Amino acid sequence: MQRGLVAEIDHSCLLHNLSIVKTLAGSSRIIAVVKANAYGHGAVEVSKSLAQNAVDMLAVAYCSEAAQLRESGIKVPILSLFDPDPEEVLRHNVTPVLSNLKQALHLNKVASKANRKIIAHVKVDTGMGRTGFQMEDYKDMLSVFALSHIEVEAVMSHFSEADLADKDYAYYQVGQLVTLKRRLSQEGIYVRLWHISNSAAIISMPEVRLDAVRPGLMLYGCSPFDKNNQCDHISPKTPQNQLRPVMSVGTNILQIRRVKAGRYISYGRTFKTKRDSLIAVLPVGYADGINRLFSNNLEVLVLGRRVPLIGRVCMDTTMIDISDLEGVTEGSEVVILGSQGKENITALELASRINTIPYEILTTFGSHARKVSHLS
Ligand SMILES: *Cc1c(COP(=O)(O)O)cnc(C)c1O
Repeated sequence: MQRGLVAEIDHSCLLHNLSIVKTLAGSSRIIAVVKANAYGHGAVEVSKSLAQNAVDMLAVAYCSEAAQLRESGIKVPILSLFDPDPEEVLRHNVTPVLSNLKQALHLNKVASKANRKIIAHVKVDTGMGRTGFQMEDYKDMLSVFALSHIEVEAVMSHFSEADLADKDYAYYQVGQLVTLKRRLSQEGIYVRLWHISNSAAIISMPEVRLDAVRPGLMLYGCSPFDKNNQCDHISPKTPQNQLRPVMSVGTNILQIRRVKAGRYISYGRTFKTKRDSLIAVLPVGYADGINRLFSNNLEVLVLGRRVPLIGRVCMDTTMIDISDLEGVTEGSEVVILGSQGKENITALELASRINTIPYEILTTFGSHARKVSHLS
């Protein structure tokens, strides 16, 4: 018996979502974000599918992730969002994102020694407050353009809250970028590509596609918007509502037990059976990525019906109440994320139960589950 979750990764859904991105992106280039093991979906497999279907560039967070893609034979340009390590950039042919002058000078020095010219993107902090040149570092930014062994192919920024219905701050950030573009052009500096849009902006701010877009979440079939967080641009007819979840996650029942009314289930006696019950034990716990905050706070699918998780999630096991179902056996399939029969559980539903975001649900499940990829 193997413990844990199994994640099915449906590459035909991935390609369907890519086609929606392409529709929304128009003529802008596509930089597909595959950081964090492609949001838990398997970076190598996902990147291969995307590369075969004409994305212009892949983006990872760190050079070690780029190295893994190169070692598996992926040839498309790779942007390293947070890690411009010169040795690794040269070794793996990565496009670094430069966030300050120190990084740029170091890169230039190493490139010059190696007698190589490195193509880089320059990151500007227009209001995200994470990495990037700040607007007041304008002089530093200018010096980067003058470096002999670095060619700046793009200037980029990142949104702090493009996923809100209120777009004021997002447009303030766009304004900062536009101001910078104007200032640079006054100095005679023209940069080929400008990009800022993540999934939320691709979906809800079509006019800021600029020269390239950087979709992550939507490629994996989730929208950053839900019913409680809507935007004027999003009507049921817009393609974002047709995104198809790429990952589904499940397990199989370990054991079924008959338990009399009035018995406690799991640590801390947080659940007491109200009737003679049929309880199934699942071979998954918080060590397998089932967050402990799901204790008494989750529904899973068995035989196409929703059943509740009861009691506390343990390290290696979790209990569900299947009293209302007939025909469940040990080994029966349990869906935690995805659909079964007419029922469907989304990453957004799971995220809202434990006050987080679908990104964390996907990356957590993805990093724990055994993955099975298919083209359905
Ligand atoms: C993660 C990331 C993205 C993708 O964001 P999504 O919301 O998943 O579309 C784009 N750009 C940068 C810099 C990122 O870190």
